[in-house]
Amino acid sequence: MIIDAHCHIWDKSMVSGGFKRLIDDGAKQMGLSDPSTLYDGSAERLIREMEEAGIDKTVILALDGHIAFTANLTYKDYNNYVANIVNEYPDKFIGFAGIDPRRGKEAIQELERCLELGLKGLKLWPLTGFYPDDLKFYPFYKRVQELEIPVLMHTGSGPPNTYIKYCQPIYVDKVAIDFPDMKIIMAHMGDPFTNQAISVASKNFNVYLDISAWEPVLKMVPAAFIQTLFQAKLACGIDKILFGSDWPLFTSILSLKDWVKSIRKLKVPPALKLMGLTDFTEEDKEKILGLNAAKVLGL
Ligand SMILES: [Zn+2]
Repeated sequence: MIIDAHCHIWDKSMVSGGFKRLIDDGAKQMGLSDPSTLYDGSAERLIREMEEAGIDKTVILALDGHIAFTANLTYKDYNNYVANIVNEYPDKFIGFAGIDPRRGKEAIQELERCLELGLKGLKLWPLTGFYPDDLKFYPFYKRVQELEIPVLMHTGSGPPNTYIKYCQPIYVDKVAIDFPDMKIIMAHMGDPFTNQAISVASKNFNVYLDISAWEPVLKMVPAAFIQTLFQAKLACGIDKILFGSDWPLFTSILSLKDWVKSIRKLKVPPALKLMGLTDFTEEDKEKILGLNAAKVLGL
């Protein structure tokens, strides 16, 4: 079973205001000549590309970025949008609610509402301007833990108009310790703070890593990706590593199909073998591609 643990979803009409700027600047950062290739993040396109790639299930994430930038949908509208897609294609998608914890009591109410709608997890987006370990968020985390849902937390770099300081994996550590039954997936293996991310995931039983947004690195400097992945395996154990793509952001660099294929064919180059790295086993690859996510998601 192949599970993509980290995808986005939007249609062209949602790409407006500050959200559009975020996507346009992200495109510029990646060197794309035409940002509009990122505007189609529809369920229909995603399903088509999942089928080409042989992906069975995908986690789709709602985003609450409204405290940092404008968008033509409220955060509740975005959660509804994701819930509707999940309910339309229940065997394809698992939906996560996007809720900014700075919303206080309203955050808890919205989380409960989202679970009633059929969403199964929570996406947190600290790059909009908050430290995940702020004690003000503890009542919210307490409820998340009681509800036994996984949390996918952005860690690492982001588009130009987002705040990197809040996204250092080190700020996930205290939350992981104080809420030991809350499963936390640190997105992007914390890139470029991979050492921090691997440290936090290796010392906390409840913290995982996803490899989304590593497509450009794999394509341009495969050895750098393989070395980081091997370091994560060695320190955290293979069970902590989840496949993800951050679709639709990197498809013009590497298609979903080629991203899956690259993991399947992953081979440690001779130069890295001289440094002591060994090949990933078939079992390792199966775990990364889906078995680990299935456990975290309780499938
Ligand atoms: Zn993402």
